[in-house]
Amino acid sequence: MGFASLALDPKVTAALTALGYEEPTPIQLAAIPPLLAGRDVLAQAATGTGKTAAFALPLLHRLNLDAPPRERTAALVLVPTRELAMQVAEAIHRYGKALGAVAVPIYGGAPMESQIRSLKRGVDVIIATPGRALDHIRRKTVHLAAVRTVVLDEADEMLDMGFAEDLEAILSATPKEKQVALFSATLPPRIAAIAKTHLRNPHVIRIDATAVKAGHSAKVRQVAYLVPRAHKMAALGRILDVEQPKAAIVFCRTRTEVDDLTETMNGRGFHAEALHGGLSQEQRDRVMKRFRAKTSELLIATDVAARGLDVSHVSHVVNYDVPSAAEAYVHRIGRTGRAGRTGMAITLAEPREHRMLKNFERVTGVAIETLAVPTVADLKARRLELTQASLREVILGGDLDVWRGVVASLAEEFELMDIAAAAMKQGATGADETKQEEIPTTASPREKHPARARDDQRSLKREDKTTRSAADVARPAKTPAAKRSGPKPSWESAKIYVGAGRKLKISPGDLVGAITNEMGLDSTMVGAITIWDRHSIVEVPESIADDIIKTLMATSIKGKRVLVRRDRAG
Ligand code: AMP
Repeated sequence: MGFASLALDPKVTAALTALGYEEPTPIQLAAIPPLLAGRDVLAQAATGTGKTAAFALPLLHRLNLDAPPRERTAALVLVPTRELAMQVAEAIHRYGKALGAVAVPIYGGAPMESQIRSLKRGVDVIIATPGRALDHIRRKTVHLAAVRTVVLDEADEMLDMGFAEDLEAILSATPKEKQVALFSATLPPRIAAIAKTHLRNPHVIRIDATAVKAGHSAKVRQVAYLVPRAHKMAALGRILDVEQPKAAIVFCRTRTEVDDLTETMNGRGFHAEALHGGLSQEQRDRVMKRFRAKTSELLIATDVAARGLDVSHVSHVVNYDVPSAAEAYVHRIGRTGRAGRTGMAITLAEPREHRMLKNFERVTGVAIETLAVPTVADLKARRLELTQASLREVILGGDLDVWRGVVASLAEEFELMDIAAAAMKQGATGADETKQEEIPTTASPREKHPARARDDQRSLKREDKTTRSAADVARPAKTPAAKRSGPKPSWESAKIYVGAGRKLKISPGDLVGAITNEMGLDSTMVGAITIWDRHSIVEVPESIADDIIKTLMATSIKGKRVLVRRDRAG
């Protein structure tokens, strides 16, 4: 069921499509209809379920957009921390931009004056921490007379932090006639008490309250890494470098994320392909065909696109984002460990999403090990292991006469042991080793905050999940290994990606040769070539780009079949 079934404003639905959301999460499916209908809602949902959109989208239908500033504020969202206030405000801003909705975060520790100025200009949705909200109410710098909806987000956290009295005071400063939505990861008796006083005949929602059928997940080793969002791409690259999956499906929440990650992973030397609902059936079939044929090793997909997918050789499933419900988790990890094989399920969770992991453990009945992201030293050790293994294979495979000659001539100058060690060093050292970034990681969830801590004093930074700039994305090396400018083309050009580069000792001549020989073309039909460590980009005439791709896919380059496709960046 898509967002279309939820009867949201078309402008809001368009914003969600632009953000790459493909379908509502379970909490959104459950909470949006009653909230749109004006009901009070009591929902048990943790961070990572999509709860923010679950209350934010219906809010956007109950705004007083044309009212004067003092009568404009239609919704008040109370949250436990300043970081969450910023995050929720950013989310509401994105969802409601096309409607002209103004969302302002109000939290402690920031100057009052600038908050007062923005409140004066007129605000549709105020997202506030309780302490600071009460401050503004007492100073009469906030006007809540027109408020129609109050949301208590992460209500259990607010109570744990000692905000119970503040919440009472704030709620009594809002109009009697209003909608109240209470979202909480847990529903202890204290929450039930608040609900009893302030919610009228609420629609109660509990996501993942009942165990889902865990299927054959017991055969799958389940691990998780707690990684801040900004470091996720780098962490995934490193984890995959160590794991060396034969074939992995990497699940993301949105189309946008799928595209970004595919590009980054290709830049890091993996053969990755994107699969999401934005592709045509024909494109999807092609992607699947290459994945099944083992031409690509990473399939980066949304849940929608990967539904029902059955590929027997998938060795790893990676949840690049925590799935929004246990059912999705079980479904995703069921893509590995098929046909009696063993598999591994890896989940990358932001530290604040640790509750979701606990939930998955509970419903699947299988423990999830929390691991630290491999360090550069781990990576080196793993490379040495792999080098040893592959040397063993090469030695057993024989056919080394040419190399014996090289060793013999070096042996006149050096010790055999040194020659062998140098050869190993050359083979084992990754070119990008020196560029490895520091990745902060926690092997255990964050500590519970001390009770009664005030938002003004809070120092625990929550990850800003909504603003991700290009700079956060781990980029491949900036300098190519070789370049050929080629003749100035007289044709309209297209760029193609060839999954072989310096590591395979590819030269521009090899690529020109492969294209011209196989296609019977003149070398003026090959434009600029840039060779990177593990891939190359070649400019060719747009009119025959697809033929060239087809031909190169069927040919070996330096004795290897490699992935060839249109370059997404170009
Ligand atoms: P939350 O549980 O509200 O913290 O949301 C977790 C993450 O899921 C946020 O990064 C949202 O942008 C994202 N998200 C929320 N709803 C959807 C959806 N329907 N499809 C894809 N991503 C979503």
